[in-house]
Amino acid sequence: MAYDPENIFAKILRGELPAHKVYEDAHVFSFMDIFPQGKGHTLVIPKAPAENLFDLPGDALANLIQATQKVSVAVRDVFEPDGVLIAQFNGAAAGQTVFHIHFHIIPRWEGDALPGHGHTGRGDDAELAVMAKEIAAKL
Ligand code: AMP
Repeated sequence: MAYDPENIFAKILRGELPAHKVYEDAHVFSFMDIFPQGKGHTLVIPKAPAENLFDLPGDALANLIQATQKVSVAVRDVFEPDGVLIAQFNGAAAGQTVFHIHFHIIPRWEGDALPGHGHTGRGDDAELAVMAKEIAAKL
């Protein structure tokens, strides 16, 4: 499938849709997931247009995973979870719903069930804005 420049994350990158921004550099953009699977659920995307892991050139992928590590450290520092889940889905059959490659950073706590991917409610914008600021302050 060809990359669709009208996907939601492409629109966020172009500033056509709002986002609770956490981090940005020349290669990546990071923001809060608005249907969070848990407190602190953060996304990291490349600025390069690529649908999935198979389409992203290696140097852009290297930048993306390094930025994911950097943002994950900040997320861990803010929320002090028991663990941090890093997830990435390729193709609708694998659970991908937005076709611009992204890594999920999801803080996890012992005993807390992980809600199903794509089955969560809309997060509260005021709370997401506070979380984005807290994470950004650690970067
Ligand atoms: P995936 O299902 O792996 O493609 O992940 C897409 C993620 O994007 C889901 O976790 C959604 O909750 C999230 N999402 C969808 N629309 C937006 C948006 N406008 N801003 C932030 N996150 C979004």
